Amino acid sequence: MDTKRWIEKDVAAMPVKPNLLDYEEARKNFSWEEVGQHFDGLSSGGLNIAHEAIDRHANGALREKTALIWHGKSGERKTFTYGEMKHLTNKFANVVKDLGFEKGERIYMLSPRVPELYIAVMGILKNRSVMCPLFAQFGPEPILQRLQGGDAKGLVTTERLYGKKVAGIVDQVPGLKYIFLIDAKDHRDEKVLSLPKLMEEASEEFTIEPTDPEDMSLLHFTSGTTGKPKGVIHVHKAIYTHWVTGYYVLDFHPDDVFWCTADPGWVTGTSYGIIAPWLHGITNVVDEAEFDAKRWFSILQDEKVNVWYTAPTAVRRLMRLDVDPLKEYDLSNLRLIQSVGEPLNPEAVWWGMEKLKLPIHDNWWQTETGGIMIANYLSQTIRPGSMGRPIPGVEAAIVQRNEDGSATVITEPGKEGDLALKPGWPSMFRGYLHNEEKYKNSFVDGWYISGDLAYRDEDGYFWFVGRADDIIKTSGHMVGPFEVESALMEHPAVAEAGVIGKPDPVAGQIVKAFVSLKKGYEPSEELRRELIAFGRKKLGVAIAPKEIEFMDELPKTRSGKIMRRLLKAQELGLPLGDTSTLEK
Ligand code: ATP
Ligand code: MG
Repeated sequence: MDTKRWIEKDVAAMPVKPNLLDYEEARKNFSWEEVGQHFDGLSSGGLNIAHEAIDRHANGALREKTALIWHGKSGERKTFTYGEMKHLTNKFANVVKDLGFEKGERIYMLSPRVPELYIAVMGILKNRSVMCPLFAQFGPEPILQRLQGGDAKGLVTTERLYGKKVAGIVDQVPGLKYIFLIDAKDHRDEKVLSLPKLMEEASEEFTIEPTDPEDMSLLHFTSGTTGKPKGVIHVHKAIYTHWVTGYYVLDFHPDDVFWCTADPGWVTGTSYGIIAPWLHGITNVVDEAEFDAKRWFSILQDEKVNVWYTAPTAVRRLMRLDVDPLKEYDLSNLRLIQSVGEPLNPEAVWWGMEKLKLPIHDNWWQTETGGIMIANYLSQTIRPGSMGRPIPGVEAAIVQRNEDGSATVITEPGKEGDLALKPGWPSMFRGYLHNEEKYKNSFVDGWYISGDLAYRDEDGYFWFVGRADDIIKTSGHMVGPFEVESALMEHPAVAEAGVIGKPDPVAGQIVKAFVSLKKGYEPSEELRRELIAFGRKKLGVAIAPKEIEFMDELPKTRSGKIMRRLLKAQELGLPLGDTSTLEK
């Protein structure tokens, strides 16, 4: 192993002592029951996310503390204290309660990242209804699919989105009782209502009724990277995981300002863009606008962000722009950067070291796991390219599935297999909505099978290989796209790479790479040949791409994941399948 390429940490030199100092110790002494001691519980009985995230703080010492700093698209800035959030979310809870929304009924969000979105999410949970977030950029078809698929009873949206995307499909969702317009002055009719008006009339007092920790809280659709998005069921108890990962992985300290750049349409934007920071009573930053390097660095600087949670796609964008932030911005408050959603190429980790003087910490999880499962920790050595090690309380393994339905744990370091988790962590999904069969099939011989392939090294670090669907079989070799993509990214011209297996009569499949270039580079035959040679040198002839095609932008999901299945379908002239999450 090339230990020279590891990033060692100097904990003594860190401005704040990390919460996790000794990984093995933290795992050994861990108990999920103890995590429960950080919560109040409801006086009426049970556990409710919104109580623990908002009311618990509003009723105590953090009442006047800023819970939310909001940056509007047009330059506005607003802040809300925990006390204010309590009253606003109570009002929202009363709005839906008074209109007859019940426990378990689904209320959807189709909204830009405005404060009302965050208020509604917590209000819905207080009423014990279920919150289901959608990307505001979705078109009418994906919205309809999901409203129908999740039996929507309510929808919170804006006048513009309603007119453009919802009005035309609403008849096809007969169960939808009410639509709340965030920015409408007056009610339109019996069904389409003005939220400000209802909020004005609603009481600030609300008592959360008994909530079973196992009650459904969120319905989240997966990113649709590998196929049709699945509706994933989560419960209130998931906050145990959010609390623990907030503590150990995001290293939340009481005075922290935290920014998660993910949209709540994607699970990262709810679990960590809303819930985890508020469970810890810290200040959460939200930006309504889309990616913009200057804007982002200004926010990091001006809000004195301490912990930043972002995604590989954003990091690669910054790399592509060739920015040098420390020359222009004071980012001295930033002490931790975490990233999730896709494999984080080693180049991206090193980019952080060079340009931000901080490494980027990769972590792994899925909509199904509800929270971070495998991570790199602030105090621990980073092995760039590795997702890190399982969080305390979670057992992960590489398993081999056998024909007889059993699964064998692979103990041999470096051997690839299915990345699997031992069921039982609190934020584990409790089902795929209306697809019990698929849910059952995710569990094999006592393991949850993630659908990702990985290997484990001798020290227990997990390394992502690829999604099971994306693995390439070429001349007897199994090739994971991540390895090839990461190697190509080491070339100075390459901004992003997406690698697929292209059917070939001799090799079975050949490795083909789609490549987008950094600023200042133009596609040319010469560069194509250079990249092929570069790949061979890095990877060897067997694994290196045989074909390279330049693209301005690779197709991605709204959550920023490269859609290799689309690259493949396009290459083969096949139907594109579900493209509802494609970023257009
Ligand atoms: P779908 O299930 O609809 O195909 P999806 O799997 O992309 O979409 P998500 O639940 O948002 O939907 O994403 C989880 C997946 O993202 C993981 O299974 C993994 O493939 C990928 N992923 C997340 N984090 C990482 C990471 N740190 N390294 C590698 N892959 C990651
Ligand atoms: Mg998935």
